[in-house]
Amino acid sequence: MSEGEEQRASGGCLCGAVRYSVRGPLRDVLICHCSMCQRLHTHLGAYSACSPSDLTVENKEALRWYRSSASARRGFCSECGANLFWEPAHGHHISVSAGSLDRPTGLRVQGHIHREEEADFCTDAGTLPA
Ligand SMILES: [Zn+2]
Repeated sequence: MSEGEEQRASGGCLCGAVRYSVRGPLRDVLICHCSMCQRLHTHLGAYSACSPSDLTVENKEALRWYRSSASARRGFCSECGANLFWEPAHGHHISVSAGSLDRPTGLRVQGHIHREEEADFCTDAGTLPA
């Protein structure tokens, strides 16, 4: 946590067992289409990110970690299963589930990543017909 920086955001899981706060800047949201996010999130992953030192998890005992690949692990609530964090091994940032942030987030969607793994039911723009 950086000295003197005010809280930028707060968030938590579905049941409230895990709550966290962020000091310092949050990245805008990236929508991830990778096959792991599809299995984890029903379809897409939506993540902001911050510096690991800016993230404070208030009740770590409810947080569990799943190593989803050699290069990253994913943090989730052991009570409700909500996925909250994606932590790469390089340690330069930690991704925070955009949907778990308390509103208003002040964020926008910055872009889409891993579209090469996009699900076959994902039509262009992923929107319903008007
Ligand atoms: Zn929970």
